[in-house]
Amino acid sequence: MCSAHPPAAYRWTDEAADAPGGEDSASSGRRAATDESGRRRRLEYPPAPEPLPVPVVDNHTHLNFRDGLVEVSVKDALDAATAVGVDRAVQVGCDLPSSRFTVEALGADARLLGAVALHPNDAPRYAARGELEAAYAEIEQLAGHPRVRAIGETGLDYFRSKGDALAVQHESFRWHIDLAKRLGKTLQIHDRDAHDDVVRILAEEGAPERVVFHCFSGDEDLARTCNEHGWFMSFAGTFTFKNADSLRRAIAFAEPSRILVETDSPFLTPHPYRGRPNASYMVPYTVRSMAEVLDADLAELCTRLSANTEEAYGSWD
Ligand SMILES: [Zn+2]
Repeated sequence: MCSAHPPAAYRWTDEAADAPGGEDSASSGRRAATDESGRRRRLEYPPAPEPLPVPVVDNHTHLNFRDGLVEVSVKDALDAATAVGVDRAVQVGCDLPSSRFTVEALGADARLLGAVALHPNDAPRYAARGELEAAYAEIEQLAGHPRVRAIGETGLDYFRSKGDALAVQHESFRWHIDLAKRLGKTLQIHDRDAHDDVVRILAEEGAPERVVFHCFSGDEDLARTCNEHGWFMSFAGTFTFKNADSLRRAIAFAEPSRILVETDSPFLTPHPYRGRPNASYMVPYTVRSMAEVLDADLAELCTRLSANTEEAYGSWD
């Protein structure tokens, strides 16, 4: 049975209390205390799930991003995840501060691999300040770290960015594709409302050998395209949302060797805790939902997800 409480490190106490609030952006490093419709969110971490029978990897998390009522260290976050069968993670940078954080965290905990990039919503901010070239140069230098295995998250976001920012997104996406190829790293793609252009630009540039669609949001057509090219589809908490029938249909078309699981924490908390803070220990909720939809044996699915993740990023050893 599920315990009624979050893991100890995530539990609110008077001593651990910390004022919530702030803006939802990589620069503030904190998830907003209101949701997209402006409603105040519940900031308690959800209960810990029942442990998985075989460990899996959270292949996309932002440990630098603050949320909830308590501050949790990288070690405590990974200990809490390990306790429920999520024994490794990929820490993802979105701008220079979070990419620097990523490289530092890699030195501190062997359960992490890393990804660094300028997020499609952040690249235009650097461009507006005339700092894009300098930011590219630093990302390239950070990406040389042997445990940085992916360039990401990069891609296109037509939901948040409009107008002039889109030209910068396109240029930045092309630059990151080229970087992944030059350094032999995996490409981790952020694709929000932009499937066709993401696929078109990958074709125009020539995709790197390994490509991951982080927080896969496509339908069966995109799943078929990913199969054709051997691209990985990483499912997040969105898979469990009530309105996600098209995602649940899409996974049936995905090659089993191409599926991954992630949290994108602290965002995209799985059902029934949508809107509350997310963390890597929440992966089992999504994996169980995947097993149910696929009518798969849970242990076999976990073994498969773990092997797929090592194919996507290499070994953690
Ligand atoms: Zn992310």
